[in-house]
Amino acid sequence: MDPAAARTALTHERDRLQRDLAHLRGDADAEPRDSADRLDAGPDDAVATHDHEFDESVAEGLEAALAEVGEALGRIDAGTYGRCVDCGGEIPPKRLAALPASVRCVECQRKRER
Ligand SMILES: [Zn+2]
Repeated sequence: MDPAAARTALTHERDRLQRDLAHLRGDADAEPRDSADRLDAGPDDAVATHDHEFDESVAEGLEAALAEVGEALGRIDAGTYGRCVDCGGEIPPKRLAALPASVRCVECQRKRER
């Protein structure tokens, strides 16, 4: 994959992730936290708590993806983009097109996930 095209794809991905993250955080901050607001909450409390926990795990996933994208952008700068971090082999361009933040070839990723 052309590094310039990869950079564009990764920058877009990073913007999207940051926007999603800001959106999540914004929603969480907008939740009523004062005890006064919660007095009449009743059964809704459990639902709100559950929603908040769900948001946290989504936010963690977004942060992890954001870190990967940042790493991939750094690898473009270092000139190592498109090379597997484990075996040093070339990551197939098709894989990079589908997942621009990939840092491992298919084989090494499979070993790692096992
Ligand atoms: Zn590899």
